Amino acid sequence: MKGSEPITIAGAGPSGLAAAITLARSGRRVVVYEKNADVGMRFHNDFQGLENWTTEGDVLDFFRMMPIEVDFFCRPVYGGLLQGPTDRAQVRSDEPLFYLVKRGSGEGTLDRSLKRQAIDCGVRIVFNSPVSAGQSDVIATGPRKPRMFAAGVVFDTAIADTAAIILDNDIAPKGYAYLLAAEGRATLATVLYSHFDRCEHYLEKAVAAFRNILPLELGNPTKFSGFGSFFLRKTAVEKGQRFVGEAAGFQDFLFGFGIRYAITSGHLAAKSIIENVDYDRLWKLRLNKQLKASALNRRLYEMFGNVAYTHLIKKTNASSDPRGLWRRFYIASFRGLLSTSGEKAPVCNASPGSGL
Ligand SMILES: Cc1cc2nc3c(=O)[nH]c(=O)nc-3n(C[C@H](O)[C@H](O)[C@H](O)COP(=O)(O)OP(=O)(O)OC[C@H]3O[C@@H](n4cnc5c(N)ncnc54)[C@H](O)[C@@H]3O)c2cc1C
Repeated sequence: MKGSEPITIAGAGPSGLAAAITLARSGRRVVVYEKNADVGMRFHNDFQGLENWTTEGDVLDFFRMMPIEVDFFCRPVYGGLLQGPTDRAQVRSDEPLFYLVKRGSGEGTLDRSLKRQAIDCGVRIVFNSPVSAGQSDVIATGPRKPRMFAAGVVFDTAIADTAAIILDNDIAPKGYAYLLAAEGRATLATVLYSHFDRCEHYLEKAVAAFRNILPLELGNPTKFSGFGSFFLRKTAVEKGQRFVGEAAGFQDFLFGFGIRYAITSGHLAAKSIIENVDYDRLWKLRLNKQLKASALNRRLYEMFGNVAYTHLIKKTNASSDPRGLWRRFYIASFRGLLSTSGEKAPVCNASPGSGL
């Protein structure tokens, strides 16, 4: 492919780097423009969950097929505590429910591994280079408008490796709070879908709530915050540009598990370029049903609040296969309730290329 124009990608997050790796491995010349000085700068070496229940197969096998090497910190989590307003479930699964990964620019992070893999297969990454609208083949610039807001803290801890989630509108309005601990480090955060201006207050409440469950001391704490966006769209191609990851609104509406959407959509956009096939067709086949199910679940969750959380916890408690239960929750067919022409979930009306 020497001599041909390189394919340009805006944004070196998981979606942009997955697209870059796939393209470069097929022999394309690729340049990624990243506005920050390094990858993962919007994160703080905090733990995030790479979800592993929405497909029967394991998410890491999907990554390896792309192929993306799993040489980053990646710890399988088989269970944990789900605490509701009144009930709690001790969840146990035979297969990993999710993988604990680190996000940021530090050692062992997903972001640093993807950067290394991209460079190894010949991708050029240009840092400190914000891209303007209309200037790239693939738009991977992350969230646009905040629809969820997270406030958290990373810290040293003496507690054993833990995964705990609280679903309670008093602690995280319309959202959830989580505590993830491994190897003496922990991340605790509250994720809000309303009341963004009161995030400090809700973070304090989340810390207090987890202290009621576990003997928690916060050593060397560093606070962080971040936001996410999600919306349904009819096309992810605007003026020939392919939108991927959160820039395309691809995100789990219910619980914000966006990493898998980002890597999958980046890979699919690259595939559509390599094979000269319709990107919209590819992402709709792979992601649309699940996106819509999560959108509907979010509406129900917001409508019924603590009643819905208690229902989810009771169902999980009664299930011998929580992974299968949660998968069914995400892949149910809602034809008619959420047709593409009558979406009630937020739909992107932005002009082409906005969000850069
Ligand atoms: C606090 C928090 C906790 C989360 N927890 C989880 C979790 O547990 N599990 C999960 O699956 N997901 C989680 N998410 C969501 C997940 O992190 C995102 O969905 C995922 O990172 C999206 O990847 P992306 O590539 O689309 O965007 P990003 O990761 O945001 O990457 C976009 C990149 O583009 C760059 N950029 C932006 N604008 C420009 C421009 N104009 N020009 C050039 N570069 C640009 C940015 O600097 C960034 O590097 C969390 C998010 C937050 C904020």
